[in-house]
Amino acid sequence: MAKILVFSETSGESVKSVTFEILGKLTGHEVDVAIVGEMGPNATADLAKYGAANVHNLKGDNLDKYSPEGYANALKEFIGSNYDYVFAGATSLAKDLMPRLAGMFDAGMASEVTNFVMEGDNFAGTRPLFAGKVLAKVELDGPKPGFVTVRPNALGMPDAPTAGAGTANEVAANAGDIKAVIKEIVKGASEKLDLTEANIIVSGGRAMKSAENFKILEELAEVLGATVGASRAAVDSGYAPHAMQVGQTGKTVAPSLYIACGISGAIQHLAGMRTSKVIVAINTDPDAPIFTKADYGIVGDLFDIVPLLKEELKKV
Ligand code: FAD
Repeated sequence: MAKILVFSETSGESVKSVTFEILGKLTGHEVDVAIVGEMGPNATADLAKYGAANVHNLKGDNLDKYSPEGYANALKEFIGSNYDYVFAGATSLAKDLMPRLAGMFDAGMASEVTNFVMEGDNFAGTRPLFAGKVLAKVELDGPKPGFVTVRPNALGMPDAPTAGAGTANEVAANAGDIKAVIKEIVKGASEKLDLTEANIIVSGGRAMKSAENFKILEELAEVLGATVGASRAAVDSGYAPHAMQVGQTGKTVAPSLYIACGISGAIQHLAGMRTSKVIVAINTDPDAPIFTKADYGIVGDLFDIVPLLKEELKKV
């Protein structure tokens, strides 16, 4: 049976949900989890419920904050020849870290798969290409371990977790001789919770017309406890940073509620949010494609509707 390591990140004290998605897909395999630096007090118990056998917490000098060299050096030493595959969510951090690690092992890597199976001991994944027009089948050859990143929210959360008992293991890790030490991480003011983890998202499109106008979405988000997202047109126009982009070349999200404001509903945008549980669209054009995917549609000017919604929701 393949021996698998899942590299996991935490968001505050919680384990990022993509780790649970990956674990759910690996049921029946021998799976360990590695977390570098701080992890929440419930991490081991939470991960064990989804099938993690051992939760290894790598700690050491210069590992409390992410640095590509430090994390890669520490993980390389820990992984050694102990694992056949190393999985991670395709987060910004892992997109930086995993290719570096794969290079250090001279091993293959499957990036941003949206589904996979373990056929016996062999990995077979699929990933969209050409803006989702084709799905490529990806297999890994060559030296072990093979490296895989999985798009957050693509697999979906597994059904009910089981009551597994995992073992917590603190590992004294070595960041090695690193050239750049991260002293401080300054969070972007506009992004409260990572989009991929958010339960409610209010997104704005080209119709927002300026970065300043996103303020009305932030105010609505504040009332709803939501995170603000954006279409690529809004990002390309400089109204929002790329970290807020939802879609094929942005983030895949699956919140309980997605409110699309002035977004037409291009296929590349839908690719990143269509699995949202409830979709609300606000658009002046009754024929906008977004209405074909929306559960609730409001035909109207977002600059009238969004402030009205905010005031009404404040009363609830
Ligand atoms: P538009 O298509 O211009 O739509 C604006 C909408 O706002 C219109 O429907 C209009 O009726 C409405 N509107 C105008 N004024 C108002 C108002 N006052 N109130 C309410 N509604 C109003 N796009 C993404 O979003 N994410 C991606 O990751 C992404 N990846 C891409 C990858 C590739 C390879 C390619 C080719 C494209 C990609 N795109 C992506 C771009 C995508 O094709 C669309 O161009 C983009 O999503 C359009 O953004 P939009 O809906 O904000 O703008």
